[in-house]
Amino acid sequence: MNSYDVIVLGGGAAGLMCAAEAALRGRKVLILEQGHRPGPKILVSGGGRCNFTNIYVKPANYYSSNPGFVNEALSGFKPKNFINLVKERRISYHEKKEGQLFCDKSAKEIIDLLVKRAETSGVKLLLNQKVQQIVHKNGSFTVKTETETYQANKLVVATGGLSWPQLGATDLGFQIANQFGLKIIEPAPALAGLLFPTQEMIRFKDLAGIHLRVSVSCGSWNMEEDIMITHKGLSGPVILNASLVWKPKQEIIINWVPELTVESTYRQLKKDKAAGGRGEFRIWFSERIPRRLAERIAWNAEARGSWAELSDERLLALATDIHAYRFVPADTFGYRMAEVMKGGVDTREFSPTTMECLKVPGLFFIGEILDVTGQLGGFNFQWAWSSGFACGQAL
Ligand SMILES: Cc1cc2nc3c(=O)[nH]c(=O)nc-3n(C[C@H](O)[C@H](O)[C@H](O)COP(=O)(O)OP(=O)(O)OC[C@H]3O[C@@H](n4cnc5c(N)ncnc54)[C@H](O)[C@@H]3O)c2cc1C
Repeated sequence: MNSYDVIVLGGGAAGLMCAAEAALRGRKVLILEQGHRPGPKILVSGGGRCNFTNIYVKPANYYSSNPGFVNEALSGFKPKNFINLVKERRISYHEKKEGQLFCDKSAKEIIDLLVKRAETSGVKLLLNQKVQQIVHKNGSFTVKTETETYQANKLVVATGGLSWPQLGATDLGFQIANQFGLKIIEPAPALAGLLFPTQEMIRFKDLAGIHLRVSVSCGSWNMEEDIMITHKGLSGPVILNASLVWKPKQEIIINWVPELTVESTYRQLKKDKAAGGRGEFRIWFSERIPRRLAERIAWNAEARGSWAELSDERLLALATDIHAYRFVPADTFGYRMAEVMKGGVDTREFSPTTMECLKVPGLFFIGEILDVTGQLGGFNFQWAWSSGFACGQAL
């Protein structure tokens, strides 16, 4: 009989966590995973070492059109709960920076932890099962894959986001949301680089590889962290985080020297000019940011007129450029290079305690398919564990 208490669609981070919890509570649980192995994104995460949580997780680390939704799940299953599982399996780990925990050896250890835990608690995990259709009749869900049909009274959608389609990401979660008339907050690539528009492409593309600490603003959002110049745009932690809030056609502002102010830089520039000119300026500026980038920005200043003739107004414009370099990115690097998808199925359709759909009893959504997106640094996996745990307790 292909009949179960619970069918979980997707054997990734949230699905594996949820299935184990439900099975530990005595439920007969089936996971249907389309891939030839479980947890494909876990394997590539954190550069192969999986940044599996962040010890400083708090609701403010998440973006959602319904911000309070994460509170209950995050406090019901905390970073320390997942760390305990990691310790039980004797997986060695380290804190890289700012609470970000990574495996010492390999992300595969986290997959093994989740799969072992699910299987020893009785979960049946079937691979190569691409789910194609759901039929909901008389309170029961029938799930059709390419080859088989399965049935359960509870269905958990844990099919993840649209990023990294090369690892098999699909829009099944959105198809199911549409089928049941659930609202969707428009999805977009996030934790992704931002493409240069033409002018910045000309100015910066041969500086690929340069990285430095800057401050970036996007609307009212601001963060100081590392930026990296690539051959087609900007990347690095501060830009990946900026992509969580950036909207098409919106300007971003880079402060190349956040430890100084426009006023102090302006004073410095005037002093340098009075002392004889651009050599001094270049020495001064090159001490603060990588030389080639400093020269490019200085070249930008020269393009405004000869150094000796620069008016106070122009010096101020240069100081402003150093502290508030403005441009409108052409786009993000897209889903193929984005760590996550922002947006997703509207959480207002679900109970924050159980992740159950308010208008379709028995239907649950967990993990990244929901409109909950964490910052860079282990927050997205923590959401997968916490939402998966909350749901597992309710099945
Ligand atoms: C390169 C990269 C690096 C990352 N690094 C980190 C990190 O270090 N720390 C962090 O916190 N987050 C990281 N993330 C984000 C993190 O991987 C996700 O947020 C997390 O995996 C989401 O969990 P999930 O269970 O919702 O989805 P997933 O883990 O993506 O699982 C969804 C599963 O559903 C399956 N599926 C999809 N469609 C179907 C279908 N039609 N039928 C059957 N199965 C289906 C998929 O194959 C997949 O196994 C990274 C992401 C990427 C792409």
